[in-house]
Amino acid sequence: MTHRLKNKWITDMMSYRLMFAFCFVVHLLLMVACTYFDIVLLALFNVGSVVFYITGFFCLNKSKDVRIWLFSMFAELVVHVVMCNLILGWGYGFSMYGILVVPITFYNSYSDEEGTGGYPLWSAVLLALIDCVMVMSSLLNTGMDNRRIVSAYPVIKYIFVANCTISMIAIVMYTLLFYMRVRNSREVMREQREELIYVANHDKLTKLRNRTSSAEIFHKMEESREQYCIAIGDIDDFKMVNDTYGHNVGDEVLMQVARVIKQNVPGEGNTFRWGGEEFLVLLPVPKEEMARQIEQIRAQIEKLEFASGLTKFGVTMTFGVAECHALMSCQQVVSSADRRLYVGKRSGKNQVVYQ
Ligand code: GH3
Ligand code: MG
Ligand code: MG
Repeated sequence: MTHRLKNKWITDMMSYRLMFAFCFVVHLLLMVACTYFDIVLLALFNVGSVVFYITGFFCLNKSKDVRIWLFSMFAELVVHVVMCNLILGWGYGFSMYGILVVPITFYNSYSDEEGTGGYPLWSAVLLALIDCVMVMSSLLNTGMDNRRIVSAYPVIKYIFVANCTISMIAIVMYTLLFYMRVRNSREVMREQREELIYVANHDKLTKLRNRTSSAEIFHKMEESREQYCIAIGDIDDFKMVNDTYGHNVGDEVLMQVARVIKQNVPGEGNTFRWGGEEFLVLLPVPKEEMARQIEQIRAQIEKLEFASGLTKFGVTMTFGVAECHALMSCQQVVSSADRRLYVGKRSGKNQVVYQ
């Protein structure tokens, strides 16, 4: 399991740029259509829109405040709808873009990336209201077809259908983007939760489980009534290692010792950093087998070689092993292993005590 967050499928910035690209294409088409039908004011407005969206597409990434671009986009869309309604009439269906502005406004207000877009919900509500009022009042103040010369019935119909189609494509696109964003946020939260659980249960230095996480494993062992043994190991004279070679070298010793223990003990839930230089091993094996395996670990640790400058040195470790008998709690087994560990410490260290 990696504990780094995965890349997001689509970033907020990518989705804004996609919107700008989409609006650029639509306004380009409108610019051509308005020029063709000789609607000068709208053609000029669309030239401005085309320049705005292409500039936005390339500058969004570098922009310090994306919100300015998003607000300008909102203003452009609303003013464009109002102008189309007033100049052409409501029959051409441009007011549908006014409806589209509402989800876009809320979409843009939602950001899970710091510094990219995102604005408070109240401002999204306010913008949506402004959009509704402006579009509705322009509808109330216009006719069905203000350009009687070019707008024979089929022309109105096809422009209406074209606007409907573009709005539908846009709404599908934004809904899909929103869906992906929500899925993405959930995925990121799930990974963060896993990361937090990992950090809470593991020791940062040795990457072994920590003492806190043993409660859950102990509980499982007690429930299962399985036969198991616990060994507690403590590095001998470790204070001297720190005092002689420094804490960084001491940390290196802890990491190497943890690596040897982990390499020799299968399974994720069986090795713990129990305290400073103490480690706990739990295995579902009889005591003799446990003692054999722990003896192997002890021997490997004894062979490790560390260096501090030109000085080379080694460390040893003492272990106490105890077996779980009927109805014993894990805590009792741990105490029993602890007692044997101190027997080992008192009788010369660097040994495994299991009797
Ligand atoms: P004994 O053989 O009786 O176990 O003697 P000891 O010196 O190993 O035992 P003692 O309890 O006196 O010293 C343990 C030392 O472990 C003291 C503490 O500074 C050191 N220690 C605990 N945690 C860490 C750690 O994360 N990094 C380092 N470098 N040292 C640690
Ligand atoms: Mg100790
Ligand atoms: Mg010690």
